[in-house]
Amino acid sequence: MPQDVFARPLKDLRISVTDRCNFRCTYCMPFDEYPWIPNNELLRYDEVGRLARLLVGLGVDEIRLTGGEPLIRPHLEDLIRRLSSIPGMDDLSLTTNGSLLAEKVASLRAAGLQRVNVSLDTLNPEKFRQIRRRGDLAKVLDGLFAAKDHGLHPIKLNAVIQRGVNDDDIVPLVEFARQHGFTIRFIEFMDVGNANGWVLDRVVSKREILDGINRVHPLREIGRNGGRAPAVDYEFVDGAGQVGVIASVTEPFCASCTRLRLTADGKLVTCLFAGQGHDLKTPLRRGDSDDELVSRVAAIWGGRHDRYSEERLAALRSPTGYDAAGRHKIEMITLGG
Ligand code: SAM
Ligand code: SF4
Ligand code: SF4
Repeated sequence: MPQDVFARPLKDLRISVTDRCNFRCTYCMPFDEYPWIPNNELLRYDEVGRLARLLVGLGVDEIRLTGGEPLIRPHLEDLIRRLSSIPGMDDLSLTTNGSLLAEKVASLRAAGLQRVNVSLDTLNPEKFRQIRRRGDLAKVLDGLFAAKDHGLHPIKLNAVIQRGVNDDDIVPLVEFARQHGFTIRFIEFMDVGNANGWVLDRVVSKREILDGINRVHPLREIGRNGGRAPAVDYEFVDGAGQVGVIASVTEPFCASCTRLRLTADGKLVTCLFAGQGHDLKTPLRRGDSDDELVSRVAAIWGGRHDRYSEERLAALRSPTGYDAAGRHKIEMITLGG
């Protein structure tokens, strides 16, 4: 089982199935047009399935499908069927903006999808339009409840919090999650890519998020699931569920980062803030054997020394500060959030 330069094992795989999206969230994909990956450059589902099987053989036990918006890729259930039948995989999940979930959840469930994460940053329809810039809150909520009706569990809500934008939505989102049995995870606004205009002033820290919730519903810390999850989990003292916080900016967790990303055009990316990936599609399509592909992946992981969020925090605390625009980073839609 390969370990990277800091002895971190490879355990989690995020697969981006498309870089396209039907939303244009200000914190992720603010522009209308991007240099999209051409369709013939996308990995086919049989290719993704083969790579996933090889990666499970190397130690991956959790796979999450993402994008872009994964549900706009046609016939995603075919990929889910392939992935859910790989022996040795403990967990298969999907992160979605929820807009197409109501119409697709039955086939996703039947294909073997176990659970879903739905992005939901506000319950206010006007603010939803301001943040996400396309789509409709009512359709997202329909998708959420359809997932619940179809027995997906747990259903996690992801909320990116920005100061002056939706910091006043934290408590209403918590109430909504408690009422309906969803787990909610708050995500500090991150400087992924170079397009989202990230500034530190707009980051609402984990401490502030927890303080706001604690004032209304006291929390008790549980910790990181499996010791390696990005979120630190908390349970409500009154027993009414859980909250998680992903604090990439103020409390980086690079030391326990076991995640590898596969882009929709077949590049392996070893960090969310990486500037480039490692091409796997060329060796795959020229006919490399399983052993050759496995050696290539093991070598990429073995050379991994990413700790971007720890370096960012050190820079933020230094006299020179941190220049978010100073380094080219792959956009979130391309590498898969
Ligand atoms: N389109 C799907 C969705 O929105 O859930 C999946 C892809 S999206 C890139 C994956 C996750 O990244 C979402 O939960 C989104 O909220 C989060 N995300 C995007 N940009 C972010 C940013 N700048 N900071 C923190 N989280 C971000
Ligand atoms: Fe699309 Fe998800 Fe990015 Fe929003 S966060 S623009 S829904 S990929
Ligand atoms: Fe992992 Fe990179 Fe995020 Fe650190 S910054 S936790 S290495 S993805």
